[in-house]
Amino acid sequence: MNLCIIGSGYVGLVSGACFAEVGHHVICVDNDPKKIAMLHAGQIPIYEPGLEDLVKRHVASHRLTFTGSIEEGVDGADVVFIAVPTPPREDGSVDLSYIEKVAREIAGVLKPGQYRVVVDKSTVPVKTGDKVTETIHRYAKPGVEFDVVSNPEFLREGCAVADLMKPDRVVIGSNSDKATNLMRKIYEPFMAPILVTDVNSAELIKHAANSFLALKISYANALSAICDAAGADVEKVVDGIGTDKRIGRHFLNTGLGYGGSCFPKDIAAFIAICEDMGVPFTLLKEVQKINRLQRERFLQKMRDALWILRDKKIAVWGLTFKPDTDDVRSSVAIDIVNDLVREGAHVTAYDPKGMEKAREFKLIPESVKLASSALEAADGAEALVLATEWKEFREVPLEEIKKRLHTPLVFDGRNLFDPEAMQEQGFQYRCIGRPAKENARKKASA
Ligand code: NAD
Repeated sequence: MNLCIIGSGYVGLVSGACFAEVGHHVICVDNDPKKIAMLHAGQIPIYEPGLEDLVKRHVASHRLTFTGSIEEGVDGADVVFIAVPTPPREDGSVDLSYIEKVAREIAGVLKPGQYRVVVDKSTVPVKTGDKVTETIHRYAKPGVEFDVVSNPEFLREGCAVADLMKPDRVVIGSNSDKATNLMRKIYEPFMAPILVTDVNSAELIKHAANSFLALKISYANALSAICDAAGADVEKVVDGIGTDKRIGRHFLNTGLGYGGSCFPKDIAAFIAICEDMGVPFTLLKEVQKINRLQRERFLQKMRDALWILRDKKIAVWGLTFKPDTDDVRSSVAIDIVNDLVREGAHVTAYDPKGMEKAREFKLIPESVKLASSALEAADGAEALVLATEWKEFREVPLEEIKKRLHTPLVFDGRNLFDPEAMQEQGFQYRCIGRPAKENARKKASA
């Protein structure tokens, strides 16, 4: 099929490449001329494992092309996907101006007598489909035929290609059989379960799913605070509850709290949407509160160990919001760096993929030094903070880390290291919801 994707970011570009992989012809549109120029020059504007290969292969197969023009994109496409940003406003509600603008532009180029399906892939509040339909009707020429479908995206950055090629399910929210059939044809090659719903339900599924995942993370993080107080091991507790099939082990990971470009904004949006409809979802406010407290508790652990953070030399490993991505938007690791700088610490950071974007978007102060390797960042530091669980960090020999640090003090915000091994190497090791071994031993012998 001929597909057009408007917005060539993490969702749009990866979806475009995966649709091309299963045989569709895809034209990706973006209004950022720099992005389109890069793509035309064979460069990939984002890092996502496997993406570069896929894009190059399908540019060569002529199944994947790029343009800055919505008119050119929509002209030959049976189905037009919208994958533009839906950022949060100050009050947490969703800024839908990108969606509205694209809907108007699509309306302007639709031709009477040519049926088109317009698919919303961006994460949007329930009933946005109705608004997009109204908008297209308002700005399109008389006689234009179209349907609006909701097809929320569930990919995870860091494994987006794999997620798109083998989705758990595909949700198609459609109020028209004609549109549903076209959508089925697009997704059949992926051999995934297809769930067809009405448009409103599909829109709700996305916010409900992300909120539930955030809730699971916050549940585990709340347990970690209880484990810290009780001298219990949260990793064992979440294994113990997660092996119950009714609960499941996924997303019961403790750490510094959830971040990234989706969870914080989607949970805030769902709270605002529900409030707007007169059915406040107060449970989600608690989820947000636990998330905020998690970072604060971590900083307090640092203050407890270092007393004063001012003028301390601190190494931070990790800037991206999770491993295997270059995405630093709303990253908790970046928040930690900024918290430390605010308290007067001298921070040297290292991240395998996120340093360029952290600097480009000015997310960290100029005073933060960026090292060219994990060990270089650790040189002479009075403490090491592990903020993102890159595999590369687990592979650095512990004795090397110890040699480089001024003081063998490690704050592991992701429970990446083995407390026993850290203890054996002579580190003072602080993590999340697991008792410090030296304390555990003292208690055992008392
Ligand atoms: P992104 O910022 O990476 O990409 C959006 C792209 O849209 C950018 O390249 C931007 O230049 C382009 N754009 C903006 N306005 C445009 C216009 N008028 N015409 C053409 N292009 C335009 O964003 P993203 O992470 O891909 O997210 C897109 C949507 O998908 C959001 O609603 C997000 O919540 C949702 N989503 C994201 C993820 C994720 O992991 N990133 C997962 C699921 C859903």
